[in-house]
Amino acid sequence: MRIKRQKRVNKLINFYCNNFGFRKPFQLLIDGTFCHAALKSKFNIQDQLEKYFQGSIKLLTTQCVILETEKLGAAVYGAMLIVKQFAVHKCGHESNPIPAASCLESMIGCDNPNRYILATQDRELQMVSERVAGVPILFIYQKAPTFQELSRITKKVAEDRQRSGFMPTGDEKKGLKAMRRAILGPRPPNLPFRKKKKKKGGPNPLSCKKKKVKPQPQPQRKKKSKQVSE
Ligand SMILES: [Zn+2]
Repeated sequence: MRIKRQKRVNKLINFYCNNFGFRKPFQLLIDGTFCHAALKSKFNIQDQLEKYFQGSIKLLTTQCVILETEKLGAAVYGAMLIVKQFAVHKCGHESNPIPAASCLESMIGCDNPNRYILATQDRELQMVSERVAGVPILFIYQKAPTFQELSRITKKVAEDRQRSGFMPTGDEKKGLKAMRRAILGPRPPNLPFRKKKKKKGGPNPLSCKKKKVKPQPQPQRKKKSKQVSE
């Protein structure tokens, strides 16, 4: 990957981490269209996306996505085999499956609470997801993974958050105080702050050098007086 491209990717990843709480390992929600494009581009999703995101990633899909690829039959047989390798996240349509695009749209919801990175070639699904703030969209373009530019709503929400400095509002502060009281109990008035006591004792024995033992001169043996036999 060219350095310029990697810089752009890192910048976008950092943006989502700083403004929308994304953390490693990133969770990629993948549909059949992405797998189909990856197969056509001879693109190994696990290996190449790990390089792209410079770390471990979780590849996920839903039951609805798998069922749709199964229904489409031979045309997307390869994509079906790929998508079946991923972990399946519960989507809530297990008893009544719905079209893959609608399912993924519901997984993103109105604020992408699970912080998914959506990997799809479905332009319509991309456009729907762009209306939700904080949904990174990944697709394959010219046989390479490509991050969608930040959507207008994503930029707007991030700017608003930066402006407010993520500080809790008045009501949120009251809520935090109440939560603290509920967990820790009321704080007694005039409770002095505890100071750290310095530990008494000698210097750290590990930091002290051992004294060199000087070789002591051995005492000379007294010469035994010879016994003189008479
Ligand atoms: Zn579903």
